[in-house]
Amino acid sequence: MEKVILLRYGEIYLKGRNRGFFERLLLSNVRKAVEGYDCVVKVSLGRYYVEGFAEENTMDIVERLIKVSGLYSLSIAYKLKTDIDEIGKLCAEIAPKSGSFRITCKRADKKVPHTSVEISQIIGGYCLDKNPNLTVDLHTPDKEIHIDIRENGESYVYFDNVACIGGMPIGSSGRALCLLSGGIDSPVALFRMAKRGLSVDAIHFHSFPYTSLMAKEKVLDLAKIVSEYSGPMRVYIVKFTEIQRQIHENCPAEFMITIMRRIMMRIAERIAIKNGCGSIITGESLAQVASQTQESITVTNAVIEHLPVFRPLIGMDKEEIIDTAKQIGTFETSILPYEDCCTVFLPKNPIIRPKLDIIERAERKLDYEKLIEEAIENVEIVEIG
Ligand code: ATP
Ligand code: MG
Repeated sequence: MEKVILLRYGEIYLKGRNRGFFERLLLSNVRKAVEGYDCVVKVSLGRYYVEGFAEENTMDIVERLIKVSGLYSLSIAYKLKTDIDEIGKLCAEIAPKSGSFRITCKRADKKVPHTSVEISQIIGGYCLDKNPNLTVDLHTPDKEIHIDIRENGESYVYFDNVACIGGMPIGSSGRALCLLSGGIDSPVALFRMAKRGLSVDAIHFHSFPYTSLMAKEKVLDLAKIVSEYSGPMRVYIVKFTEIQRQIHENCPAEFMITIMRRIMMRIAERIAIKNGCGSIITGESLAQVASQTQESITVTNAVIEHLPVFRPLIGMDKEEIIDTAKQIGTFETSILPYEDCCTVFLPKNPIIRPKLDIIERAERKLDYEKLIEEAIENVEIVEIG
């Protein structure tokens, strides 16, 4: 009997007239996700199905599908012609031999001459006849067998709903640029915004030789892992060493991080605009470190002229961020001990509540326009995916 994968989407249901746009994009993203496997993705009566794959590829295909933004859940299902006896025999075969179970039936096909409750009872009977040690428990069954009777004469039988990541189809919200460090937070920030339908590119600032080439590799590894969710990604690698050296030599030590951040943001915004990105993403979380107080964020944000800055982790605790990092598979890489550029020339007492006018005055000691232009000219681009 043919096994298929049944896909369900979530929030797109809430869309009005432009729902077709989201559905088509999601379908195209699903097709890309299963590329390379011999299978077809079909749409029928507002649902997506993956069919025609070799049994041994099932779990690999499922692994890919649960990462597709916009999908809410999936089920591995048996597909058969709508025939109550045939469905009964199948269910009797796959039902557990003992313990408790229930049948849950959804009948969209009103030509079938029974209600869904009646069908559940008939099929339950098949299961009990074949498996005498089995009992029915409608409230807390050990196993639930779902039967979906569709309008087109086809039925689907399955056990579980496997959760996918939800969200909106990648690309439906446009493109963004994420400041990606080697830490725990920014890959999670990137993932969370991709989930809202953004294609995301990344920008990383590195301070070779103060930070090792391994630190850069680590960021590219992180980009690779998140790109399994967010799709093909361009990583802009900006050489930050000279800028840091200049700040270190010309500005008060306690302003180092604030000024560095302002220059990072200026560079990010320019690269974003030049490359069609409509927003900037950071992994900041309020109060996590000195550069993430309201005052610090105000001063950093003040250099941004055109784009919105999205900080999806702003209200999240570290523990919650770590949970997501583990879920998406970036955590183990993030905790590898390669230093970030922010640790270079790190002052003992960074300012916690910087004032904009004082920082602006300190910054005037730098020819930062020239430094920014040079950094942008020398950016290295790595394409991922
Ligand atoms: P993360 O875990 O993402 O490194 P963090 O808790 O270490 O964050 P900070 O080092 O203060 O916090 O960085 C705040 C945000 O600034 C990061 O989440 C990231 O978006 C950006 N950022 C910091 N360092 C870099 C870098 N070297 N390259 C690109 N972006 C950076
Ligand atoms: Mg960091």
